[in-house]
Amino acid sequence: MRYHGPPMNEQSQVAAPGRVVVRFAPSPTGYLHLGSARTGLYNYIFARRSGGSFILRIEDTDLSRSTDEAILQIISSMREMGLDWDEGPERPGPHGPYRQTERQPVYHEYIEKLLAGGHLYPCFCSAEELEAERRAAQAEKRAWVYSGKCLALPADEIERRSAAGEPFTLRMHVPPGKTVFHDMLRAPVEFDNDTIGDFIVQRSDGTITYNLAVVVDDVSMGITHVIRGDDHLSNTPKQVAIYEALGASVPEFLHMPLLFGTDKKKLSKRHGATKLEQLTAMGYLVEVVRNYLCFLSTEFDESMITWTLDDLVEKFDVLKLGTSASIFDPDKLRWMNGRFIRQLSDVALGERLEEYLTRVGFYGAPAAVEELARHGAEALAAEVEGAGTAHALLVAPDVEQEALTRQLAPLVRDKMDVLADFVPMAGWFFRPLVVSDEARERLAGTEGAAETLRTAAADLCELPEWSVEDVEALVRDLPARLETKPKSVFAALRLGMSGQSITPGLFESLWVLGREEAATRLAAAAALL
Ligand code: GLU
Repeated sequence: MRYHGPPMNEQSQVAAPGRVVVRFAPSPTGYLHLGSARTGLYNYIFARRSGGSFILRIEDTDLSRSTDEAILQIISSMREMGLDWDEGPERPGPHGPYRQTERQPVYHEYIEKLLAGGHLYPCFCSAEELEAERRAAQAEKRAWVYSGKCLALPADEIERRSAAGEPFTLRMHVPPGKTVFHDMLRAPVEFDNDTIGDFIVQRSDGTITYNLAVVVDDVSMGITHVIRGDDHLSNTPKQVAIYEALGASVPEFLHMPLLFGTDKKKLSKRHGATKLEQLTAMGYLVEVVRNYLCFLSTEFDESMITWTLDDLVEKFDVLKLGTSASIFDPDKLRWMNGRFIRQLSDVALGERLEEYLTRVGFYGAPAAVEELARHGAEALAAEVEGAGTAHALLVAPDVEQEALTRQLAPLVRDKMDVLADFVPMAGWFFRPLVVSDEARERLAGTEGAAETLRTAAADLCELPEWSVEDVEALVRDLPARLETKPKSVFAALRLGMSGQSITPGLFESLWVLGREEAATRLAAAAALL
């Protein structure tokens, strides 16, 4: 049972006096969920506001659910959000390693300490015995905690049973009384120790449980403030018991209210896209997601939509969070994203579009990606996610595609809420004209369509100067000349140039296509009628 690991680094147990040290400790069991992203963000803001240190730690003790891919995704999401850490994976420092699976010697070192202090005892109770206790408690309608049956086992019995190879766990003895801790959002939180019970810190196979690992990590990394979801409130008294047994100073806690959907249920897959990667793959801008995660717990005014990370550090006070549930409203996020897009300069939006379209594989296969995007931004994101981060679709735009994207940016700015909206609206610029049967029927049903298309094609070729203004004047003149309603002329030209009814502005679109391409498309569409 005794484990002799390397000597403990005593220095690393103490934080520099007064210096804030926080950590974000996600479990790598999937993409970064919005709730976790929020916890990481608040820790970052708290650290930077106080000039403290921010540690990223990977809680991968649950081997059956943790994957290396998820660790990479956490790292990439943190980077995408701009949340750089002072110590952690890929950023070694004095408190490493930063993956729990690599910290086993440290845990066993602390187990030794706790054993030496008489705080742990071996428990030989079998799963059946524990189950019987649990059932008895259930029958009496009381919450079950371990009875403490093995607490008083005589030393010779322990010796005999362990020598005979009988499996045992190690339990932390929680003395009677009360456990009180401080939470920065709450009045002192008090638990009756009877409700905690003596809990397992080391399983019979020698592995360490979460509560032990998290305290050892926090103590040995000198964490001063633990900021995490309030689903961990009920674990905290157990953790405090370990701190006290170790004689370590208990950190300040801040348990953040969890995120709920608009239906007041805990945020989950059922609420649609709730993962950072998924949202950015739908064309939400990471700044907007970041700001939204802060604003959903504060009074909000529109000027805050464009805050930078530095603004958040300067102006967002994590301590004002309150304890009521935060509601994640995708419609509000979408609205904010649209507002953010509208204030981007042509150049900035062009860059963001280019980045996004590259990420979703648009430039490599415009028609295929367009087809997907017609089923919605979520369908597109699902495909990108399914392909993984290093997917084969990543193709940078060629010179023409790049120029086209930049030209289109100002034309789509007012029409998009998420960047994915670009694809069904403007994807047709990047491929030859396709007029579906349905579009052809719509064209055929449009008053004077054939004549409109033929006349416009011919006149565009004759236009002395190729400018948006001249294209507009030409188009605006057509209804009177052709004795057709303006609505019909516009509809025919829109369908004729693109094969669809929703496009960026008609005059600008014709202009972007260029004289020859515009005329060719309109003539080709006319020929279908
Ligand atoms: N790994 C835990 C989680 O992802 C966090 C535990 C903690 O912050 O103490 O919920």
